[in-house]
Amino acid sequence: MRLLLHICCGPCAAFPLKHLRDSGYEITGYFYNPNIHPYKEFTRRLETAKEFALKMNLEMIVDDRYTLEEFLNHALSASGAGGRCGMCYESRLRQTARIAKANKFDCFSTSLLVSPYQKHELIKDACEKISKEEDIAFLYVDFRSGWTEGVTISKELELYRQPYCGCIFSERDRYHKIRKESM
Ligand code: SF4
Repeated sequence: MRLLLHICCGPCAAFPLKHLRDSGYEITGYFYNPNIHPYKEFTRRLETAKEFALKMNLEMIVDDRYTLEEFLNHALSASGAGGRCGMCYESRLRQTARIAKANKFDCFSTSLLVSPYQKHELIKDACEKISKEEDIAFLYVDFRSGWTEGVTISKELELYRQPYCGCIFSERDRYHKIRKESM
């Protein structure tokens, strides 16, 4: 079965790729993450995802559009389920579903489901809704039990591991909090 795996970053993809291959799926990776700011961080994560794909012999589809204004406009006005993060998940995963359908994959999933730091239920709910609306199957797996194993694999592969989720708001929350605590 052919599965298009949305890859939020190389390290997060490590365990899902292993698990899905072990389960018999034929995996193609898909990088589409215009939520990552600033641009140098975006390029670093994109290059790391490509490095991961090369090391793991993983075919990749890359969409490297950097639609900063569009993301910020949507993020600042987000009001639906999950607010800003709900919008962020939905936009990336809907695009994944559409690419999967257009390229005749059997189903799609996402490496976001491995992280204990992401809003897991929001991601799952978004994918299930998108699956119905875009008419393409979604494979749900709770990859979180493999988080530690994934960290170990990413360190063995010497991949860059990012310190915050992605958007400029998460970067602010990561470092502003540290600065406030040290004052
Ligand atoms: S915190 Fe992460 S999931 Fe939420 S909007 Fe920012 S990049 Fe997207």
